[in-house]
Amino acid sequence: MISFVDYNENSDFSIHNIPFGVAVFNKEYIAVCTRIGNMVVDLATLYDYGFLDGIEGLVENVFEAYTLNEFIELGKPVTTAVRTKIQELFLEGSLLSNDEKSIADCFFELDQVKMLMPVHVPNYTDFYSSIEHATNVGIMFRDPANALLPNWKHLPVGYHGRASSIVVSGTEIHRPKGQMKPADADKPVFGPCKQLDFELEMAFIVNRNTEMGESISTAEAEDAIFGMVLFNDWSARDIQSWEYVPLGPFLAKNFGSSVSPWVVTLEALEPFRTASPKQDPEVLDYLKFDGDKNFDINLEVSLKPENGDENVICNSNFKYMYWNMAQQLAHHTVNGCNVEVGDMYASGTISGKDEQSYGSMLELTWRGTKPFTLSNGEERKFIKDNDTVIMRGYAQKDGVRVGFGEVSGKILPAK
Ligand code: CA
Repeated sequence: MISFVDYNENSDFSIHNIPFGVAVFNKEYIAVCTRIGNMVVDLATLYDYGFLDGIEGLVENVFEAYTLNEFIELGKPVTTAVRTKIQELFLEGSLLSNDEKSIADCFFELDQVKMLMPVHVPNYTDFYSSIEHATNVGIMFRDPANALLPNWKHLPVGYHGRASSIVVSGTEIHRPKGQMKPADADKPVFGPCKQLDFELEMAFIVNRNTEMGESISTAEAEDAIFGMVLFNDWSARDIQSWEYVPLGPFLAKNFGSSVSPWVVTLEALEPFRTASPKQDPEVLDYLKFDGDKNFDINLEVSLKPENGDENVICNSNFKYMYWNMAQQLAHHTVNGCNVEVGDMYASGTISGKDEQSYGSMLELTWRGTKPFTLSNGEERKFIKDNDTVIMRGYAQKDGVRVGFGEVSGKILPAK
């Protein structure tokens, strides 16, 4: 497929991608959009001009919206048809390619738009599905001989997170304050977190509302998933280690999570399917699945200090996940928990086997015992004020590249 839009061969936003997002155009007008190369395309205007006519089930004004929720609720038959139609329109020789006025009205350079939070998120759940991450944390905090708790290989462990503080890439985050109990103290202290961390994750977004009592099987799950984003689950390790017993993470996690602005559809990721790690012991029937349910997505984390360049500190891959998205959604709903359009389900920190693939500072510096040195000479155990953390992700195979762009967030001093 060759597009009439020029873009670099290493662009995440090739003709094979066609992601969806929401942008402010020219500082006043908000609409649902897609992206090809470095051009952001206003879908509300493209729809008004009649280029998306004839798609059954496509509702008028669905692109004149502040979020993708109404669009993605139309379901796969409609959203997939829209994506395919846009892809055809972007091809060389298409009706659109010869229409200079429509191109001028619908296509915007990146610096002419501001990306917004792509969906309204009613509910957010965070899983803990990387065996390497769970093993590393188990070794550090509990017992190297029994790093994984007995339930871990039988169910995708998760907890309910906070939806209100999920923000789009570029949003600055204030260092959280809270209670911490230093190892040598006999009572807790209050103050700014001293062990601020990122967690390299991806999240999927659900396209439907279900009834309480209803479940989504592993076979049905992918039809209920609109697409994915990069997800940085900022974490305050010192607050977490004091507060988490016995109910799990609370204020150590709910002060902010950052997502990439472009939602990449599962259809775009189709060529990058790959087998999951073998699950042993065998899982219960409701967690069994057919086919390849993992995706080969390269992931990278950079840290940029205030006075210095970006340093790549981690390279990982989404394919390492022990539990896949279909299993996560099946498990989440097996008890009859209802899901809602726009819900976000994060993977949990995605670590690989080697030390350079660990998806958090906690693991990269082994709880601060092995600090690393940045290119400007500064040392890091955890994240300092004014550091920016940037996560990137892309899939590439046989000359086809589909990527997520980035999720970036700067840490400001505590308020
Ligand atoms: Ca997490």
